[in-house]
Amino acid sequence: MAGILIVAEHMDGALRDITGEMIGAAAGLKDPLGGALMVAVIGDEDGSLAEAANLEGVDEVISVKAPHTHFDAALYEEAVCTLAEERAPSTILIAHSAAGMAYGPAVAARLGSGFASDVFEVKVEAGELNTTRGGYGGKVNIELGFPGKGCVTLMLRGATFPAPEGTGSASMATLAPDFSTLAGQSSHLEYQPAPPADVDIAKADFIISVGRAVQDDKNIPTFAALADRLGATFGCSRPVADSGWLPKAHQVGQSGTIASNCKLYIALGISGAVQHLAGMKHVETIIAVNTDANAPMFNVAHYGATVDIFELAEALEKEFN
Ligand SMILES: Cc1cc2nc3c(=O)[nH]c(=O)nc-3n(C[C@H](O)[C@H](O)[C@H](O)COP(=O)(O)OP(=O)(O)OC[C@H]3O[C@@H](n4cnc5c(N)ncnc54)[C@H](O)[C@@H]3O)c2cc1C
Repeated sequence: MAGILIVAEHMDGALRDITGEMIGAAAGLKDPLGGALMVAVIGDEDGSLAEAANLEGVDEVISVKAPHTHFDAALYEEAVCTLAEERAPSTILIAHSAAGMAYGPAVAARLGSGFASDVFEVKVEAGELNTTRGGYGGKVNIELGFPGKGCVTLMLRGATFPAPEGTGSASMATLAPDFSTLAGQSSHLEYQPAPPADVDIAKADFIISVGRAVQDDKNIPTFAALADRLGATFGCSRPVADSGWLPKAHQVGQSGTIASNCKLYIALGISGAVQHLAGMKHVETIIAVNTDANAPMFNVAHYGATVDIFELAEALEKEFN
């Protein structure tokens, strides 16, 4: 078994960012593992997605003919298992996303392959694939190897691996698996997009986030105005989003959005739980403001102040006026 098979993720006629990120992650594994880097695009109506998947480092793009273009877990499972049989890859990469979770584990079970989900680090040591993944709700990092496994299926965390920027010179192939056994098992009703978000945490380079310390939705406008004045994107911790004080799109962290492009992050009244840190601890400059000097946020902060966030907002307001 040799080569890396990446299953492209697409929605609404466009590849999702995670597809390029998986290609970026695979580029570093290709030489030590050996074999070709293949990308499978399932349900690509006119070949445009296959073209878009032809990024630097890709050797072959396989357009898998499907009865429809929308995501269907059973169809993806069937297609990937057929591809695994045809191409015999040593590694299969699937997005750790809502769609990936719906078929990735089933693929691994059917193939009897090694398996890890939520993988954020992957390397080859002494010819063996080793990965690191989150565990216990993100509280610990778990290192996993797969001794004796000829094939390993990995689900990669998004916004973690850099995607290649250049286009590739991959050969194009098509595959038409037999999906007849799936006929009538399920039907697609409609695609309901998420409500449009007023912020893009993943792309923001400066974020000011508030935590539970804001106490009430009535206090949100004070901090939103502060972020606006300073030219920052307004983020929050999960309790703020869960309480409905800000839309979910503002939430930073493991079950929110990772601040992948952020250079400056100001955390106002956020304790620094591991799940929040998962979305921002990599940021170049972190400033923490918290009345509790022992708050874990200070462990990752480059600058900190044990100050009440309301007093800070008031003082800054006076400074502006
Ligand atoms: C599976 C899972 C996924 C999760 N995903 C996420 C996620 O994506 N993002 C996320 O944020 N959380 C996530 N959580 C929740 C996470 O565990 C924490 O509960 C959450 O991050 C805490 O939010 P917080 O820091 O705002 O609140 P708290 O932990 O209550 O901290 C509030 C902080 O404010 C300080 N404070 C209080 N008053 C003031 C004041 N006036 N001035 C200054 N400081 C003050 C306190 O000292 C305290 O440190 C997840 C949890 C689980 C189990």
